[in-house]
Amino acid sequence: MGKRIVIALGGNALGKNLPEQMAAVKETAKAIADLIEEGHQVIISHGNGPQVGMIQNAMAELTRSNPEKYIPCPLSVCVAMSQGYIGYDLQNALREELLDRGIQKGVATVLTQVVVDQQDPAFKHPTKPIGNFMTKEEADRMVAERGYEVMEDAGRGYRRVVASPRPQSIVEIDTIHALVDAGLVVVACGGGGIPVTTQGHHLKGAAAVIDKDFASCVLAQQLDADCLIILTAVEKAAINFGKPNQQWLDKITPDEARKYISEGHFAPGSMLPKVEAALEFAESKPGRTSLITLLHKAKEGIQGKTGTSIVME
Ligand code: ADP
Ligand code: MG
Repeated sequence: MGKRIVIALGGNALGKNLPEQMAAVKETAKAIADLIEEGHQVIISHGNGPQVGMIQNAMAELTRSNPEKYIPCPLSVCVAMSQGYIGYDLQNALREELLDRGIQKGVATVLTQVVVDQQDPAFKHPTKPIGNFMTKEEADRMVAERGYEVMEDAGRGYRRVVASPRPQSIVEIDTIHALVDAGLVVVACGGGGIPVTTQGHHLKGAAAVIDKDFASCVLAQQLDADCLIILTAVEKAAINFGKPNQQWLDKITPDEARKYISEGHFAPGSMLPKVEAALEFAESKPGRTSLITLLHKAKEGIQGKTGTSIVME
């Protein structure tokens, strides 16, 4: 029986720059088409860390070169741009892959806004890494020259960090739901969604980047999905990650996940939001399962052969 699956794509599904993205999405499309071919209903969300960083840097350079002509571009607008160009590549790669397999199915990207709370404490404590990795020296210069906040990211170098409030609801959810119910493949909540706060009927862009893992969790719940699959750069989550006593996790219960989270096994900004999102979805309703694995292991993962899954007993 086909399942309704929300797939959250990580950075490695998209590459770090324009040519890399064009190549990466071809492989990504194959992995997704495999699931569609097996009869699953697939909804795709994706991250945008490197992309939104690149767009933001480009827009900042423009303003710096000619401040009279180019006013600074809000971060929410940069997120919207990233949804547009990532969705463009993804939906085309998937369209082509499906046509190559003789599958007639519309694929569309929905520009998605996600409501956040203006009072969210995250606005005072930036935690979300965006943009390229920097050396300590480069990072120090960005702090001095541009007032960026930077953070060491899981032993891989320094990155700029921005506020990452929790997603509350998805503005375009009815549209997404209708498209999914009609049997179409939808790309939604790209980059965690464009963060907005509500002011009556007005939606105001917020200076933040929502974590795509949390946004995908909300999307999966609101679409009443069976499965949330978070595809990333590791096949499984681990405890004692990177240490000699590292241990990969297979099938775990929500209580085990909670215990490992409280023991600090997952790095904030990278694996922690995935495990937290996976836990929240798995507990949200009986029968819902979450999976964290590698892109090209998605098919095996959904068959229960690999990945870290969180399932209620
Ligand atoms: P994505 O772009 O898919 O969101 P991230 O870089 O944000 O990817 O998160 C995945 C990374 O999290 C892995 O590549 C790994 O380096 C890091 N990580 C941190 N803690 C753990 C852990 N406990 N188990 C596995 N990976 C971890
Ligand atoms: Mg991430």
